[in-house]
Amino acid sequence: MKKYCVIGHPISHSRSPQLHMAGFQEFQIEAEFTAIDIKPSNLSNWIKTTFCSEYSGAAITIPHKKNIAEFVDIQSESAQKIGAINTLFWKNNKLWGTNTDCLGALRALETINPNIENKKILILGAGGASRAIVFALQIAKAHITIWNRTVIKAQELAEDFDSEYVRELSEIDSDEYDIIINTTSVGLNEWKSPFPESLWRQQHIAFDIVYKPLETKFLADAFAKGAQTITGDKMLVWQALEQFKIWHNINLEPEIMERAFFVY
Ligand code: NAP
Repeated sequence: MKKYCVIGHPISHSRSPQLHMAGFQEFQIEAEFTAIDIKPSNLSNWIKTTFCSEYSGAAITIPHKKNIAEFVDIQSESAQKIGAINTLFWKNNKLWGTNTDCLGALRALETINPNIENKKILILGAGGASRAIVFALQIAKAHITIWNRTVIKAQELAEDFDSEYVRELSEIDSDEYDIIINTTSVGLNEWKSPFPESLWRQQHIAFDIVYKPLETKFLADAFAKGAQTITGDKMLVWQALEQFKIWHNINLEPEIMERAFFVY
């Protein structure tokens, strides 16, 4: 039986096992998918002694997305540019690291607006997830503006991806934007939003990548102004669908993983 896993620290919150097991069930794939808690100090040993001899693939989450790079033979272009790996797979006996968060976010946005080219997009946050999203949106030829609490990080991200940044949200003309994305952890297990209520417009698409809770204040404020909303489960599901394609060469129907997301 083939073995797959998601590794992180902590890991008990991960939805990856239930998403991938749903795919195994649908296609009667004889495989297991487990969540494994690996401390940073044990990463090297676990990869060398356990992963390399037993596993066909792994999803990588916080805090290993950067450090895992030193153990792979080859990094995909997306992983290199983003500076983070969330997927390990084997190809011609070489261990590859790639990043599916970027495509996951793009596919999630495309569920509401399939034409991202030339859209004006405001991204709140400049952490790891933001970097993956900015990478994807830049390839999709969107016009990106980044705001982050720590301004220097917004500036650096904007420079790396040839985008704009703002120091304060009061600098923006909200009417100019098509899409606003929250990539900060504001709203995670709390009723707070990083975006002032007064700046929402009916024409906006609001996308929150936080998925605990699914209905965040960020999305509730946008919805109250008549904007369209995208919840964080969409990105999680679409990035997992990309992993499924890489590991099993199967295009799984999104509904299968979406249903599995809610069985918790
Ligand atoms: P990260 O690298 O630690 O970045 C955190 C970001 O949140 C930074 O921009 C940080 O700003 C900002 N932030 C934190 N607290 C803040 C506050 N009180 N006010 C304003 N900004 C604040 O984390 P990440 O990996 O990018 O993840 C960010 C969020 O996305 C998490 O909630 C995570 O669960 C979620 N996520 C979802 C998916 C999905 O598939 N849906 C995928 C990845 C991540 P500073 O730079 O100023 O600290």
